[in-house]
Amino acid sequence: MVPNDTISLRQDLIVAARRLVSSGLTRNTSGNISHRVVDGFLVTPTGMPYETLEPDDIVFVDGDAAAHGRRLPSSEWRMHFDLFSARPEINVALHAHAPFCTSIACLGRGIPAFHYMIAMFGGADIRCAGYATFGTEELSCHAVAALDGRNGCLLANHGMITLGRSFDDAFKLGIELETLAEMYWRALQIGEPLILDAAEMSRVLEKFQSYGKQPPIEN
Ligand code: 13P
Ligand code: ZN
Repeated sequence: MVPNDTISLRQDLIVAARRLVSSGLTRNTSGNISHRVVDGFLVTPTGMPYETLEPDDIVFVDGDAAAHGRRLPSSEWRMHFDLFSARPEINVALHAHAPFCTSIACLGRGIPAFHYMIAMFGGADIRCAGYATFGTEELSCHAVAALDGRNGCLLANHGMITLGRSFDDAFKLGIELETLAEMYWRALQIGEPLILDAAEMSRVLEKFQSYGKQPPIEN
């Protein structure tokens, strides 16, 4: 269910914004995070240190792309707007300059199926969106395309994005993506990683449909 814009959701968004830094996914004020609400979404303000944020600093962007509030929205508001339009099933968009993801993205490379956990993101690879200047509609278009059928991507010479139904979902994927990027980077230091083939990745994708789902406890 899509929530209304409430103080409590704004507080949850501030907690999530601070978690961008405490989780190591980003540093200083880079990155941004948003949550869908009825008739639009809430997003972090541009360039503000996350530890200083108060509920009224969070910006509401409506369905006509008009921003409301005392602060200017994230420079990437268009990307969040377009992702919520393209992906009706997601409620949270997380963008960070996670160091290992960004290092790989600076080569303009995605992450192939060097590890089966790549399938957690919905397919057999993590794509790298083409480069465009931050905060542009062009970057937004590249990001939407790279995320087609996926819940995570890299952004060339910039960073990464993950999508989720909840803040916890988006962070779980964000931390997984940064972990995979670190492993891939380390493997590349000592050789050429072996890549799992399409048939194996299909098997893993199939297993992920039911993996980790515990049955309800009967009392
Ligand atoms: P904002 O502070 O405007 O959200 O920008 C940070 C960023 O990561 C731009 O890509
Ligand atoms: Zn950025």
